[in-house]
Amino acid sequence: MNRRFFSPAPLQIGPLQLTGTEAHHLLHVLRATPGDEIILFDGAGGEFSACIESTARKTVTCQVVQQRTVNRELPAELVLGVALPKGERQRWLVEKATELGVTRLVPVETSRSTQQRVKQQRSSTPGDRLQRTVIESCKQCGRNQLMDIGPPASLDVFLRAAPAESHRWMAHPQDATSARGCVTPTIDLPTWLLVGPEGGFTENETTQAKAEGWQTIDLGPRILRVETAAIALTSLVTLPTG
Ligand code: SAM
Repeated sequence: MNRRFFSPAPLQIGPLQLTGTEAHHLLHVLRATPGDEIILFDGAGGEFSACIESTARKTVTCQVVQQRTVNRELPAELVLGVALPKGERQRWLVEKATELGVTRLVPVETSRSTQQRVKQQRSSTPGDRLQRTVIESCKQCGRNQLMDIGPPASLDVFLRAAPAESHRWMAHPQDATSARGCVTPTIDLPTWLLVGPEGGFTENETTQAKAEGWQTIDLGPRILRVETAAIALTSLVTLPTG
């Protein structure tokens, strides 16, 4: 059984008991039995092979036998700041950003994210649900490092938090000064990306971003929804060329 399972406890060689969702999946979906081999990761970068020793109604006991050396991370930090959409669109964005290797996703509050909307985002962003999406996405795509979901940040704080030595790209449609076509195709420095809310950025916000060293980028003549723009921009900087 060449399946990947997540351990919330840090992994090391030796015995390990899986409980909760992962044990349920092994026991009741995959009908795992003693002797089956599985792959485990703990979200901190490590990947281990393990063998199931025994099963009970709600727990799986296995022996972690070997650490594998694999790195499926991007060459440098990739931070995605985004005025998060709600509901299923938010979950979709988190799933795809994890698959593409985003290091940290930061929900950004802009002046067109109204007070009410910001409250809705907070209440509809229960850490557990989105964290589960990140884990499931990592299980599927082979990533051993969990994408971090940061606390919401104001636009001002987010713009200033990017290190001076970094690529900083702000998606902004139909901006005559936008730099389409000259995005660095490999992430050779920490790279920070920013996508605005449904109402877009205000002129003040783009002026402020440019003053902080951000470069605007036009993603084409069509207006993309927030999550589409976030994934298009992320793909532009992460996908291998040639
Ligand atoms: N009317 C808004 C405007 O003109 O900015 C549209 C906002 S769009 C629905 C939401 C966000 O997605 C934008 O703030 C921008 O960050 C990004 N976006 C959408 N389409 C884009 C495009 N063609 N080029 C660059 N960014 C885009």
